[in-house]
Amino acid sequence: MPLYEYECPNCGERFEHLTRTNEPAECPKCGNRKLTKLLSVAAARVGKSQDMPPCSNSFGCCGGGACGLQ
Ligand SMILES: [Zn+2]
Repeated sequence: MPLYEYECPNCGERFEHLTRTNEPAECPKCGNRKLTKLLSVAAARVGKSQDMPPCSNSFGCCGGGACGLQ
């Protein structure tokens, strides 16, 4: 089930839409259907915040250099 993020050029609203059969994305604010499709949210989230959390100074990195940033 592909999840896409759309941006409405009409009112600037950004929202996620789960694509289903014969159900085009529609702006929840103004109902516009000419939307700009952005990157898949699910893919962007996994790669960014869950897979490789950036080392934080307060934690002193991962401690063992396992993250490759030391
Ligand atoms: Zn809109």
